[in-house]
Amino acid sequence: MIQTFPVKTSTQTELIDVTHSVQEVVKKAGLEDGICIIFIPHTTAAITVNENADPSVVQDILMELNKMVPFKDPYRHLEGNSPAHIKASLLGCSQTVFIESGKLALGTWQGIFFCEFDGPRNRKVYVKVISGGR
Ligand code: ZN
Repeated sequence: MIQTFPVKTSTQTELIDVTHSVQEVVKKAGLEDGICIIFIPHTTAAITVNENADPSVVQDILMELNKMVPFKDPYRHLEGNSPAHIKASLLGCSQTVFIESGKLALGTWQGIFFCEFDGPRNRKVYVKVISGGR
């Protein structure tokens, strides 16, 4: 079964730490060892794993992504949100994290971030937890 939780974004581009929400899903699943797959069903957002200790890291990631993929360019997509589609493809729509002793096996400085590139919007995150067995 797939679990979902909502993410409400408040600006055009932002990274939101969703580690706690993903960990809650893992906790409810009640398994000790396994795999957690985080997937987002969107074409103008992404999911990434990076540092959640210093908030300037995600600000720098956004600043550089916005330079690499400018908001204004002769894009062909008529909806006008091509930069968001391109950033979404660069970062990807899923991440996999191991579960150990009932917890996400993330590094000390790692967090899971929902990446909004075409907000503000109401978004969804899908989480699938698979038992590793013993
Ligand atoms: Zn579009």
